[in-house]
Amino acid sequence: MSILTADDHQRYNRQMMIDGWGEAGQEKLKQTTIGVFGAGGLGSPLLTYLTVAGFGKIIVADKDVIELSNLNRQILYWDRDIGRKKAESAKEKLQEMNRDVEIVAYADEVTEDNIEQVFASVDAVCDALDTFESRFVLNAFAVAHRIPLFHGAIWGLSGEVTTIIPAETACYRCLYSEAMPGKVFPVVGVTPALIGVIQATEAIKYVTGVGELLKDQLLLYEGESMTFSKVRLRRNLDCPVCGHL
Ligand SMILES: [Zn+2]
Repeated sequence: MSILTADDHQRYNRQMMIDGWGEAGQEKLKQTTIGVFGAGGLGSPLLTYLTVAGFGKIIVADKDVIELSNLNRQILYWDRDIGRKKAESAKEKLQEMNRDVEIVAYADEVTEDNIEQVFASVDAVCDALDTFESRFVLNAFAVAHRIPLFHGAIWGLSGEVTTIIPAETACYRCLYSEAMPGKVFPVVGVTPALIGVIQATEAIKYVTGVGELLKDQLLLYEGESMTFSKVRLRRNLDCPVCGHL
């Protein structure tokens, strides 16, 4: 018997028409819990599209408070939200977009000490972060649990995306061996909008089984010249995180 309700059939009708999706694909989405680490520029479009696509449960983690300087790109937040916690404000908006998705907000810092609790029983995670340190924590978690990690990063008018499947593809640490210092970098809203939506597309494809994933491929976007290119990635067999797998 299908777990989809009559409302589900109406809400998701158009996407279920995609080849290879159908009721089975929608049921898989409904049974999936996905963690999104970061609810800023990348997280805003990513969370929005995961929510409207009908993931069963979304755990959003971000410790930051909304500031005026976020509003050129973090489209889940509006002037009236300044001073509030991003995770809580995001949960409120997302819940209004789709009442059938369970949204869980975690508004404190996520570290290697508590990530197991914050993202307990997730089936996949998304990297909507902006520091190497946090990405290393998320990557180690994904590799330890052998769950997919949808990576995205931006700078100015440029961005990159890849889909990490532990033990099968290069992990984030295979790409970046050491952390570079974080600093305030230039960015315009359209860049994370584009990259975040590609991450969401990959997550949806992974769960429904539709299409081919960006496995061992780094998709590079250059907005100034409006070019997309792909770089082939390879696992580092000496990787301190995934080398043993
Ligand atoms: Zn690795």
